[in-house]
Amino acid sequence: MEIGLVSYTPEIVKGYDYHVYYSKWVNGSIFPAGKEMQNDVTCFCDAKAIREKPEIVAISKYGPALRKNRKANLAFDYVCPTNQEYKNKVIDYIKKLNKEEIKGVTLNLYHFPEEEFCVCPRCVELWQASGLNWIDWRADIITKFIKEAKINVKGTFAVEMFPDPILAKERFGIDFESIAQLVDYFHVPLSARDYTTNYWVNLIARDFLKILKKPVVLELSAEMPNFEKMDVLLKTIAHLSKYDFKAILLLTHDSKNAMQIIEFAVKNKDFRDWLIKFEFSEMLEIIDKWSSIY
Ligand SMILES: [Zn+2]
Repeated sequence: MEIGLVSYTPEIVKGYDYHVYYSKWVNGSIFPAGKEMQNDVTCFCDAKAIREKPEIVAISKYGPALRKNRKANLAFDYVCPTNQEYKNKVIDYIKKLNKEEIKGVTLNLYHFPEEEFCVCPRCVELWQASGLNWIDWRADIITKFIKEAKINVKGTFAVEMFPDPILAKERFGIDFESIAQLVDYFHVPLSARDYTTNYWVNLIARDFLKILKKPVVLELSAEMPNFEKMDVLLKTIAHLSKYDFKAILLLTHDSKNAMQIIEFAVKNKDFRDWLIKFEFSEMLEIIDKWSSIY
């Protein structure tokens, strides 16, 4: 098992095998490519684009896909995935990234906001003309977008997802079966403020490992301000290391935060003894590697 970082700053940190960099954000901010990194591109969530052109938002019987519309209960503002002009902008950005020396591209939020979306006149017309049922039509729209993105990616190609292993197709149009044929791996984010309660991490992570027909990397939140939270985070990773995940990625604020975790793990003799006692050999390899660098 490998260990990596997910971050908002394009900094390579020694000791981590993977670096995922958010180069396009949900608020619409766009950044130059993170060199030698996996660039994470937020596709259809774009608050800035929607502010500039409100008519591009996805629509449901509960109203628009906006955070401020509490009937829809969404964390972000979503553009309708059949808006060709907006889609072209995202594809153009992916093309631009791929002119740089990047490791690859991970698509994020490339799907419908929820199962009721989108019923804008264009979507309804496209759906009716397709001859498909609602669920299959939405999945077809999303899979086609992923295919178009993939054509423009020269390196490693991956997708994130909202971590729902069972209802992803009905809710978001995410069809894991067909997407598996397109990606090198799946990136499953299991974000939390901390992992003091963590049975759900093991549960969801293992469900994904069983259903996804490509390697799986997991993302855990690691913006930990205190030792207790870092301790449970590292023990959660140790438990996950017993399964066949390709990598664990840690979401950190910046490189200082990433170094803090290494320092805590390397200096903590109790943690190493605990790993030895319960035979977490994969995790011990990571700690040994960190010890040899720092
Ligand atoms: Zn629409």
